[in-house]
Amino acid sequence: MSVIPGYDYVLYGSSWPNPSHITYSIAPDGVFWDHGINNLNATFNAKFETSGIWERQIALALATWESVANINIVPVSDGPYDYNTPGLAQGDPRFGDIRFGGYTFPDTTITLAQTCFPPPNGSTAAGDVEINTAMNFNIGSAYDLYSVVLHETGHSLGLGEAPNPTEVMAIDYGGLRTGLEPGDIAGIQAIYGARTLDRFQSQGIGVGFGDPIDLSKNLAASNHAVISGDSLSSIGSTEYYSFVAPSYASGALQVTAAASNISMLSPQVSIYNASGTLLAQASNPSAWSDNVTASVPAVVPGQRYYMAVTGDTHTYFDVGAYQLVVSLPQSSPPTSPAPTPPAVVPTRTPTPTPQPPPTVSPRPPATNTSPQTASRLGRVTQTTLANLGFNSGSTVEYFDFQSGEAGAYQINAAGASIQVFNARGRLIAQGTNQVNVSNSRAGTAFYLKLRPATSPPVTSYSLSISLGSLLATVRKTTRPR
Ligand SMILES: [Zn+2]
Repeated sequence: MSVIPGYDYVLYGSSWPNPSHITYSIAPDGVFWDHGINNLNATFNAKFETSGIWERQIALALATWESVANINIVPVSDGPYDYNTPGLAQGDPRFGDIRFGGYTFPDTTITLAQTCFPPPNGSTAAGDVEINTAMNFNIGSAYDLYSVVLHETGHSLGLGEAPNPTEVMAIDYGGLRTGLEPGDIAGIQAIYGARTLDRFQSQGIGVGFGDPIDLSKNLAASNHAVISGDSLSSIGSTEYYSFVAPSYASGALQVTAAASNISMLSPQVSIYNASGTLLAQASNPSAWSDNVTASVPAVVPGQRYYMAVTGDTHTYFDVGAYQLVVSLPQSSPPTSPAPTPPAVVPTRTPTPTPQPPPTVSPRPPATNTSPQTASRLGRVTQTTLANLGFNSGSTVEYFDFQSGEAGAYQINAAGASIQVFNARGRLIAQGTNQVNVSNSRAGTAFYLKLRPATSPPVTSYSLSISLGSLLATVRKTTRPR
């Protein structure tokens, strides 16, 4: 049965600019998460008492998409930053491209979760997931956390709701899932392409003990060989390496399969001698996106060694890109390691680009403290003013703007009490952290009055104004049946 685009899958139309390194993170509790304060960690830690178990369901959902598409996803740390904090849509060093948070939804029993599509979409909100923590999430029964997150992260990667109710991307909760359906796979591959064999295995190299990727020349030149861009393309696949220990070799042999900051892979690495006897093996099946190192205490010069890298979980964590590092730490190559041309396999030394530390430019006292001196923002469809601050707890700041397009607008300023007035000075909306202004024509004038909502007042805040549809209409929901 063939897959029907538009029925078995729907493409939203945007995707991640760098699909080979999509990061994700779990936002800390207490940050503002679109319509509420994030309580995902406290809620799930209390519900699922085993440490790490709910985080693994989220990771497994992302690894499921990675296992069939030409993408690599990695976990990163998060920090005390609100939803849609101004910043980079992808590659922001403060948190993941895809962030997870949760709170009690206003429509508590209608929606399980909602998610933003990939950039361009808001500021940093693109791809972010909001989980309704008032719902009864479970592992292995309704509402199954993996099944819901699998659907939501499909949105994070660019898939819309599929009309076919059997697909993971169907809008209604469809019961327990263990993986993707044909339409889901066709959809994600239509965006990013299928997961392919790496540059070795696509040429028939490294596919078995009989035809390994040979590192002998690399190790003849250096006691440290790094092979990058390797990848396990499906569950159960294995990649094979070999080398003849150089004449200078002595002491330990260490072989590391590294997936940390590279993919969701949970690798296993094994070292064998020339007759195929297993000498050492290392893995950590409870981890993902991790590095493992197998060691042989005394390497024998002239002896051939084989190494095999495979997944160690028999799950979607068995797929992903990695790096192989072979090292002879107690051995010194006879010649000083003059720059030698790369051997069979080009070894790559990552050259980190020096990043200047983030600077906080000193902020002059605010002058927009009266309606007459309001900051004029002009016509606005979407704007963010970062690094604002109140001079004191009693400061009031004024802004004015005209709507750039017709529609509803959302005004965000975490830590601030916000009042919105119309051109005649009538109060039309107010709230803390966030205010929505109902539909208006293009060119409608608004005045904003902001004061600290907290004591002590926030020392720095951001004001963002955006046409509601930029965020609201791109959200899709998973509804309980
Ligand atoms: Zn959905």
